[in-house]
Amino acid sequence: MVVGKAIVAREPTPSSTINWSLEEVEVSSPGDDEVLVQICASGICHTDILLTSVPSGSFGVAYPKVAGHEGAGIVRSVGRNVSDIEVGDPVLLSFYSCSSCSECKNLHPAYCKDFAVENYVGQQQFTSAHDSNELLWSSFFGQSSFAHHTIAKRSSIVQVKGLLQHDDELQTFAPLGCGLQTGMGAIQNITNAGPDDIVMILGLGAVGMGALMTAKIQECNAIIAVDRDMARLDLAKTLGATHVLNTSDPKFTTLDQAVRSIFPDGVSIVIETTGVPVLIEKGLQSTHTRGKMVLIGVPQLGYSLSVPVTEHINSGRAILGCIEGDSVPQIAIPQMIQWYRQGRFPFDKLIQYFNATDFQKALEALKAGTVIKPVLVWASD
Ligand SMILES: [Zn+2]
Ligand SMILES: [Zn+2]
Repeated sequence: MVVGKAIVAREPTPSSTINWSLEEVEVSSPGDDEVLVQICASGICHTDILLTSVPSGSFGVAYPKVAGHEGAGIVRSVGRNVSDIEVGDPVLLSFYSCSSCSECKNLHPAYCKDFAVENYVGQQQFTSAHDSNELLWSSFFGQSSFAHHTIAKRSSIVQVKGLLQHDDELQTFAPLGCGLQTGMGAIQNITNAGPDDIVMILGLGAVGMGALMTAKIQECNAIIAVDRDMARLDLAKTLGATHVLNTSDPKFTTLDQAVRSIFPDGVSIVIETTGVPVLIEKGLQSTHTRGKMVLIGVPQLGYSLSVPVTEHINSGRAILGCIEGDSVPQIAIPQMIQWYRQGRFPFDKLIQYFNATDFQKALEALKAGTVIKPVLVWASD
């Protein structure tokens, strides 16, 4: 058992829709298929905010809980069945998969039959409040990285021993396990975009920027970056965008009109990361024959996309859902690290570090749009 700090999310209230606080918790010893990780840094992803701001019961969510699903740290103890990880190993954290269902066996672990319950809900057995012994929900995405110490499932772990050039790189690599991997995989796995493609990316958060850098690596013919923030659009240009569209520009009319003023036939691939209904709808209309739209951004609960079916049949368009870029983290993360070393995936430009004690500042910066990927750093002791 270890005692340390964790960010505990309690049920939202009308005055506090994100009800997080730094608390002292007790973390148990790892079970047979788990390891205890001392976290050095945790990335904040929008799913952490979404799944701690919904009422109890939505998506199966229960409170109080420890969220966090991007992280890096050092293994402090290992369970009986874990034979390929040792105490002292540096690891990164990503999502959980069962390793045995048909999707897992076919190397599509993001579509594991247990994905939603194990990743979004977690378990109520490893972590408790130090003062009250109240059991907390943890094992979020099989790990709950918003804690100085946490229990992680073997399948959520990416071993990076041998991939680090120095210890400080663990902090840099902490956010690779979700958003960036999702954007990367949307290009590489889901659409297999290449030199014939005109790619449009809606929304320039970590997912959109991951897709953008990968589209550049894949030598796509053109890359249109769309956002309402000029600073992000300027950054997108340095990362490979050939065109940018600013939706907050007074001259901006509709997305499909703006796209067709550049490419009259439309684009071949749309990566939708905003969840904004009008962008989803106009994004689909911006694609040309046999175009693909990949849906990643989560719209408001209950939203349905209406599709004119006959037109859709004749166009040959495809609408594709995307979880985690259909990635295998143990393959995708070493790939991104390799590209980073080659200077082709400079995701470090998206990161801003905060002390874990300053998590409120990180949340405010994310909400204000002044930071793309906040990473919380846990003091070593
Ligand atoms: Zn599975
Ligand atoms: Zn995420």
